[in-house]
Amino acid sequence: MTTRRLASVLVANRGEIACRVIRTAKRLGMRTIAVYSEADRDALHVALADDAHLIGPAPAPDSYLRIDRILEAARATGAECIHPGYGFLSERPDFAEACAEAGIVFVGPPASAIRAMGLKDAAKALVAAAGVPVVPGYHGARQDPDFLAAEAAAIGYPVLIKAVAGGGGKGMRRVEGPEGFSDALASAQREAQNAFGDPRVLVEKYVLSPRHVEIQVFCDAHGNAVHLFERDCSLQRRHQKVIEEAPAPGMPEAVRAAMGRAAVEAAKAVGYVGAGTVEFIADGRDGLRPDGFWFMEMNTRLQVEHPVTEAITGHDLVEWQFRVASGETLPADQAGLAIHGHAVEARLYAEDPDHGFLPSTGPLRALQLPEGEGVRVDTGVRAGDRVTPFYDPMIAKVIAHGATRDEALDRLAEALGRTLVAGPKTNVAFLKALAEAPDFREGRFDTGFIDRDLSLLTAPSPHRDAAIRAGIRALVARDGSARSGSPWDAADGFQLGEARRQVLPFVLDGEPAEAVLSWGASGPTVEYGAACPEPASLAVIDAPNGVLVLAGGRQIALAPPDPFAVDLDHIDQGGTIKAPMHGRLVAVLVAPGDRVVRGQRLAVVEAMKMEHALTAPSDGTVAEVAAEAGQQVAEGARLITLTTEDVA
Ligand code: ADP
Ligand code: ADP
Ligand code: MG
Repeated sequence: MTTRRLASVLVANRGEIACRVIRTAKRLGMRTIAVYSEADRDALHVALADDAHLIGPAPAPDSYLRIDRILEAARATGAECIHPGYGFLSERPDFAEACAEAGIVFVGPPASAIRAMGLKDAAKALVAAAGVPVVPGYHGARQDPDFLAAEAAAIGYPVLIKAVAGGGGKGMRRVEGPEGFSDALASAQREAQNAFGDPRVLVEKYVLSPRHVEIQVFCDAHGNAVHLFERDCSLQRRHQKVIEEAPAPGMPEAVRAAMGRAAVEAAKAVGYVGAGTVEFIADGRDGLRPDGFWFMEMNTRLQVEHPVTEAITGHDLVEWQFRVASGETLPADQAGLAIHGHAVEARLYAEDPDHGFLPSTGPLRALQLPEGEGVRVDTGVRAGDRVTPFYDPMIAKVIAHGATRDEALDRLAEALGRTLVAGPKTNVAFLKALAEAPDFREGRFDTGFIDRDLSLLTAPSPHRDAAIRAGIRALVARDGSARSGSPWDAADGFQLGEARRQVLPFVLDGEPAEAVLSWGASGPTVEYGAACPEPASLAVIDAPNGVLVLAGGRQIALAPPDPFAVDLDHIDQGGTIKAPMHGRLVAVLVAPGDRVVRGQRLAVVEAMKMEHALTAPSDGTVAEVAAEAGQQVAEGARLITLTTEDVA
C-alpha cells in the first residue's frame, strides 16, 4: 500500500463528534466538508467546516443515513476521504464498500472487519476461535422461546438477553429467573426488530458485580497493531455509559497486559485496520483478575469516550485515523506508549433525571461550558441552538485530566459545578453527584452502581426552596417593571400589621404553586417552602414566559400563572394517555372496549434508544385509541383515552 496524503475530508456526522473530527482535520491542513440535515442548517459543525452540503430532512433516515446523498456530496466537493464519526453510518459495511466503489477513502476499518464484528453472535464465535475468552452463553441460530428458555436455565440465572445486531444498549434484558424469561424475550426481540430490523437474540451469563473494561486498539495496513490501554466504563444507566475513565481503577499490570493482548488478537482475527475498541466484561467481585474477563463485542469505530485515552497517552486518535487511512504506519509502537496520569469523562445530556431521564428538548437559552487546567470540553452546540428530538440529546462531553484519579475527579466535579445550561433540563447535578460519590471515589463500583444509588444521586438539592424564592423575586421584579400595578395585578392582597401580604400564585415546573409576598418598607419579601441555606451560586435566566433558576446544576422554571391554561389532566380525571416525549409508537397493547386495570401496560413508545411503557393510571375501559403502532408521535400527543369507573 502506498501512502497518499489526504487533502480533504467529508465528515458524515453531526454534533460534537463532527466538530471534533473537523478540529483535527484542520490542524492537519485538510479541507473540511460538513453535511447537514434541514434541522442542522445553523449547527456548529456546519459553521466550522470549510464547505457544507445539505443532504435532506431532519429525520436521520432521510439525511445522515442516506449513503447516496453523502456520496453525492463527497463527489460534488471532491472530498478524498469520508470520516463517519460514531453512530449513523460508522458501522455499516455497505457504506465502507460504497465509499471504496466511489474511489473515496473510508476512514475506518475494511468492510469485511466491520461485517465480521457486526453481529455479536458471529463475533463471539470468531474471537473465541482466536483464543479470546468469551462470556458463556448460547449464541446459535435457534430462536424459539422454549429452546432459548431451556438454554437460559442451563446457563444459570441471572442471564442477559442481547440483540445479535445490537448496539447502544438496545434490545437487552437482564432476567433474574425462569418466570420472567418469556416476557423479557418478547420485549427484547421487539426492540431489536424495531431498532435493527433483526429480531435475533443471544442469551449469555450475566456476570456478577460486572465491570465494563474496554481496550482501545489501533492497527495499520502494514500489519502493525497496538493497544492504547484500557478505559473503565462501568458507570452506566440502562447499559449505557455515563462516566468513563482511563486507566481502570485497581487495574493490575498483569491484567492490563492480558487484556491488551486479547484485544489485539481479536482485532487481528478480523484483519483490522484503524481505530477500534474491544469491550470486555469483568467479574469485579474479587478485583480484576487475568482469568476474570470476557469479550463482549468490538466497536469498529472511534468511541464516544476516546478523549480519556487521548488525555492519558498524549496522542490524537483522530490524527492516527487519518494517518492510517492515508497508508502510513502507526505513529507509535507498543513500547513507545505509556500512561500519564488519569482522565475521566462525563456525558452531559439534555435529559430530565427527575422524570426517568427522558430526553428534554428546546432552545439552549444559556450555555456556559467550563474551562480550566486539565479540562477539555467537546461540544456541538452553542447558546441559542436548539436540542431537537431528532438526534441524540448530548450537549457536551466534559473531560478532566489530572496527575492522579483524585485530582481528575476533583477537576471534573469542579468543572461540572461551573457548567450552566438553561432551557432543556440536564443531568449536570447528577453527574456532579456521581463524580463526588464516596464509593465511586474509593473505586468500589460496578455497572449496578448508578441504579443502586439512584435516589441519592438524584436527591433534590437542599437549596431548592431558597432557589425558588430567588426566582420568585426575579419574576416579581421583572413583572413589576413590565406591567404597572403587578404582581399579577394583585387582587387578593390583605393587610397584616404593618406589611401588606399577598398570596401569589405561580407556575413551578409546569405545576400550579403559591407563595406569599409581603410588602414592607424595604420592598417585597417572599415566603415559600422551608427555611434553607442559599445556594453557593445561582443564576436567573429570562425565558419568554418566565424565568429559569439555575443552582447546583439543576434548573427550576418559574412563570406567572397563565390565564389561558386549562388543566386538562384535571378535567379528564387522568383518563388521557399522552406521549411522554417525541418518539415512535412501537406497540399498542389494547383496543377500544378493553377493560384495563391500574398499572397495566397500554402502549410502548420508543425514544432515544429506549422503550417506555405507558401504563393505565387507574382501572377503566379503553374508549379510544388515537394512534397506530409504527407512527411517530409528538410529546403530549393524545394516544389513548380511558373512561374510568366511578364506583363511589
Ligand atoms: P460508545 O460505545 O462509543 O461509548 P455508546 O455505547 O454510548 O457509544 O453508544 C452506542 C451507539 O449509540 C453509538 O455507536 C452510536 O451509534 C449511538 N450514539 C451515541 N451517541 C450518539 C450521538 N451523539 N449521535 C449519534 N449517535 C450516537
Ligand atoms: P451494546 O452493543 O449495546 O454496547 P454490549 O454487549 O456492549 O452492548 O453491552 C452493553 C452493556 O451491558 C455492557 O457495557 C455491560 O455493562 C452490560 N453487559 C453486557 N454483557 C454483560 C454480561 N454478560 N454480564 C453483565 N453485564 C453485561
Ligand atoms: Mg458495547
